[in-house]
Amino acid sequence: MIIDTHLHYGKKVMFDLDFSLLISLMEAHGIDKGLISSIECCEYRPDADELLEDQKPQIEANKELLEKIKGCGKDLYISFWCKPATEGNIDEVYSFIRENRHYVRGLKLHPFYSRLPLEDARYDPYIDIAEALDLPVSVHTANDSLSGPGQLLAMAKRFPRVNFIMVHMGLCSDNEEAIECLGQADNLIGDTTWVHFDKVLKAVEICGPEKMIFGTDAPIDGARSYAFYEQLLRAYQDDHAKWEHVMYKNAARLFGI
Ligand SMILES: [Zn+2]
Repeated sequence: MIIDTHLHYGKKVMFDLDFSLLISLMEAHGIDKGLISSIECCEYRPDADELLEDQKPQIEANKELLEKIKGCGKDLYISFWCKPATEGNIDEVYSFIRENRHYVRGLKLHPFYSRLPLEDARYDPYIDIAEALDLPVSVHTANDSLSGPGQLLAMAKRFPRVNFIMVHMGLCSDNEEAIECLGQADNLIGDTTWVHFDKVLKAVEICGPEKMIFGTDAPIDGARSYAFYEQLLRAYQDDHAKWEHVMYKNAARLFGI
């Protein structure tokens, strides 16, 4: 069993992430279940401090994704990508997720594409929803002033009843700060997306196998989206018991899938 907790769909900025490509990649690599989020909820341009021109409302984007996963015959669930910088319709978001709670299994925050540091209060109502509906919150983290591992640790301490996934373990860093932060809060879990195998191994050895989950960003790298994870996938084949928590058990427990 393998659960990929970090998948994407949609057309936005420089990305065009095809749903059928994702399904075929999952089949080719033995991915049984997944958590997917719509990149069509990006709010800001990646290269300038400017809002993207064509903003798709967060509920609309997530609804479109919902229709895709309902008809695909795969065990896919939604991580609801939030738009805290541009939308305040929290009651509607709460109702949408509640109504579709079977499919919506998590929230996704992306400080880079929302241009909001994790200290910003506009995240809080979303995290209140996560707490009320028992949803883990996946957060893009990077070596920047918006989403550093230390900033996510502080958020996890502010909301001790919510589980937070530290996606990328601090992208564009050596992951050392992330590994240190993981050990400091029970409700903080690391993710393998773009993390080199030696650092995944280090995180597991220092923090324990319950503290990491498998994620990839597929199909962001096209047909080669799982190539970066070859070593990890091989390690799992060779030593099932050592890696089963990372590859599916933790995700199954956290997301209830
Ligand atoms: Zn991603």
